[in-house]
Amino acid sequence: MSTATTETPNPKPALETQTTAGNYFVSNYPPFSFWKPDYVPGLMEAIERPPEPDTPLGVYVHIPFCRKRCHFCYFKVYTDKDSSEIRAYTSAVRRELETYASKPFIGGRKPNFVYFGGGTPSYLSVNQLRELTDAMKEVLPWDEAEEVAFEAEPGTLTKHKLEAIREIGVTRLSLGVENLDDRILELNGRAHRSKEIKRAYGFAREFGFDHINIDLIAGMLEETEDNWKDVIRQTVDLAPDCITIYEMEIPYNTTIYQRMKAEGKLIAPVADWETKRRWVDYAYKELENAGYTVTSAYTAVKDPEKTKFVYRDRLWEGADLLSVGVASFGHIGGTHYQNHHEFDPYVERVNKDELPIYRALTPSADERLIREFILQMKLGHLSLGYFEEKFGVDSKTRFAEPLQRLKDWGFLTIDGDRLEINREGLLQVDKLLHEFFLPEHLNKRYA
Ligand code: SF4
Repeated sequence: MSTATTETPNPKPALETQTTAGNYFVSNYPPFSFWKPDYVPGLMEAIERPPEPDTPLGVYVHIPFCRKRCHFCYFKVYTDKDSSEIRAYTSAVRRELETYASKPFIGGRKPNFVYFGGGTPSYLSVNQLRELTDAMKEVLPWDEAEEVAFEAEPGTLTKHKLEAIREIGVTRLSLGVENLDDRILELNGRAHRSKEIKRAYGFAREFGFDHINIDLIAGMLEETEDNWKDVIRQTVDLAPDCITIYEMEIPYNTTIYQRMKAEGKLIAPVADWETKRRWVDYAYKELENAGYTVTSAYTAVKDPEKTKFVYRDRLWEGADLLSVGVASFGHIGGTHYQNHHEFDPYVERVNKDELPIYRALTPSADERLIREFILQMKLGHLSLGYFEEKFGVDSKTRFAEPLQRLKDWGFLTIDGDRLEINREGLLQVDKLLHEFFLPEHLNKRYA
């Protein structure tokens, strides 16, 4: 009898266990650390060109205000701005949008989707919201938008404000719930409590938003197995159209990391990755039992036919994103850009009729292909023919090595045109996506 064993050509890598500091989530490509002020002229050229045929236009508006800074937050947010500063900001956003609206890249397009992110867009008062959105609609009308999405912190939502949010045309309301236990919310620096979540959710249902999403985070400070199960049970009872679950990461600019540094700790005081993956897996199984369908690494929806997430899907297919507001990230005519990340310089530059761009990058055709390929892999499946048609490249050949590795590790199958990532792969997809990066983009801090 032969004792020879068949060696796996690509042995499965050991999974990371403890949560250490750094970015896990891959939201764009090439990584942000490769975007440079020197490349801003590339954006200036892109806005002077007409759009590529059939490229949808989206608008993203960044509202950087929050009631409190959450301990795990890595966004640019302000908790100390008064109403006159907020008005100065929303006026600057309007002016920035006006500057872009006359540029050739618009090419007569109306926004296909609009997204209000932050920060906390629902921090704005009803009057501030109406003024801002009326002005935006004058500049770029939304009447053809398939989706208007709006992020909200439950504690900022009154019945009156939710009614106004619905009236301005929001179709997708995303509630930053994160957890339903008051002690955990408090310990993680959240401003809201469970009572406010339930009240806001009830009002939102009354006003008939097409699509209500609830965001959760697996692995917040002091999260336990029993509490997580209870959070999922309560979420199923609320029955939102969509549930988005992130695994807790600890980027360097979070308060949690600052505390770790001060105490000389390398391991974050949150659940390890294996536990977080197990919790997300549990959540998806429970949601599937309740009739939901898992539609990406992060989302489960009640009715996949009815509940689309246009903003995500268009971005992952290379749409233009005209992004306005401090520190916001956009993509126009093949060039990535980010705005100034400090409040006063941002407002000052806009008021001088200058575009407030901080850094940019024009990816090569190969980098654009990688970007769309890895972002669409987060859906758990993609069509190889799509990439052949769009980029004129056989992606099975271009990505032969990483695809083989993921197959050998048991995460990926290809059947004809369809590539699929199984659940085990999906639960750690952001880590696997690095296999597709160009060598020069590996081993950097992705910030
Ligand atoms: S509400 Fe969101 S944006 Fe604001 S501090 Fe918390 S995590 Fe950051």
